[in-house]
Amino acid sequence: MGFSLDVSPIACELLIKVRMNIHTNNQVTRIYNVIGWIRGAVEPDRYVILGGHRDAWVFGGIDPVSGAAVVHESVRAAGKLMKKGWRPRRTLIFASWDAEEFGLLGSTEWAEDHARVLQERAVAYINADSAIEGMYTLRVDCTPSLHTLVYDITKKVSSPEEGEEGMTLYQSWHKRDNSTERDAPWISKLGSGSDFEAYFIRLGIASGRARYTKNRKTERYSSYPVYHSVYETYEIVERFYDPSFRRLEAVARVRGGLIFSLADSPVLPLDCVEYAMSLTKYANSIYQLALKHPAAMQQHSVSFDSLFFAVENFTVVARDFHQRLDQLDTSNALAVRMVNDQLMYLERAFTDPLGLPGRPFYRHIIFAPSSHNKYAGESFPGIYDALFDIENAVDWQKAWDEVKRQISIAAFTVNAAAETLKPVVS
Ligand SMILES: [Zn+2]
Repeated sequence: MGFSLDVSPIACELLIKVRMNIHTNNQVTRIYNVIGWIRGAVEPDRYVILGGHRDAWVFGGIDPVSGAAVVHESVRAAGKLMKKGWRPRRTLIFASWDAEEFGLLGSTEWAEDHARVLQERAVAYINADSAIEGMYTLRVDCTPSLHTLVYDITKKVSSPEEGEEGMTLYQSWHKRDNSTERDAPWISKLGSGSDFEAYFIRLGIASGRARYTKNRKTERYSSYPVYHSVYETYEIVERFYDPSFRRLEAVARVRGGLIFSLADSPVLPLDCVEYAMSLTKYANSIYQLALKHPAAMQQHSVSFDSLFFAVENFTVVARDFHQRLDQLDTSNALAVRMVNDQLMYLERAFTDPLGLPGRPFYRHIIFAPSSHNKYAGESFPGIYDALFDIENAVDWQKAWDEVKRQISIAAFTVNAAAETLKPVVS
């Protein structure tokens, strides 16, 4: 996406002054979303969505066509399977969004049009924007409950890199981008700047995205050099980014693997224990941020105990839930459907109908696009924003009261989400 102007750190350091004359045409015009469905054979009222945009700033050789091609190939793959008699267990929805570059318009309109139905029935949303933005390794941003599925799928896909024959994508990715927290490839939080926003941040549908990327440790510029420019052509992909098209193929297999697993697995492949681990990590890091003001925390009696207690509670409940899942009688269709509903609605449970302060459409209490960089994700955004710049607050009492209020909202939300994973009658 990008209606925001990207100022690179390099440009900032050099302090270049630029005068720009910008000519734009304002015009009311029609936009078109193209939606395809494959009716689920067993649970037609459960939806798995693969969506990506079709409009581009100029030629769109990378953004979005490298991603739009993945949607087309996934549709073609599904078509081939259907000719052999296959039907997905759940309904698959393929979406080609229009007007993403103008503010995520197509995808947001569709999410709003179908909000009630999606809230009731959507299992997951996988985004298919640009499939390549670098030549180094895989990059995945997703909700924590999808971590395990992403790892499992990448273990079944071959590495697209030359000289890595026989290696899996997981091994190649792991070697290049190990997580700082554990021995597994790095997975990021979802930010925004693409069409998953309304589905994840507003409606609370489990979401994820995957693409090939640059080395985030050495290539520290944002996005890629030709981003949104006239130089984004098919030729640049073919000559430089991916001459064999094997990287694009690997990304297509990850995205396709996600939607096919989510649509076909009898028990939804969502992992609540991973969610618990992420919540613990986020609670610790927001607490560290607050600890920069030890005197003020004491003076205003600011405590994170309620949040830590809620996260601990969620962790215990999530572990119990997965233990019960291991014992589930999978031949009992109703029992399977009951746990699947608990899994599907977990993401919804993290949303607050009131939204974040000043951002009513951002309703996810655990994740939001950063208020300072829309492309980046922030965890516990309500608390983070309340703490940001607090030393410059005019009214300290009011500012710290807001921090406390945001801590209670986060604690309440995590506890409420834990409730949804408990046995339905105890
Ligand atoms: Zn795009």
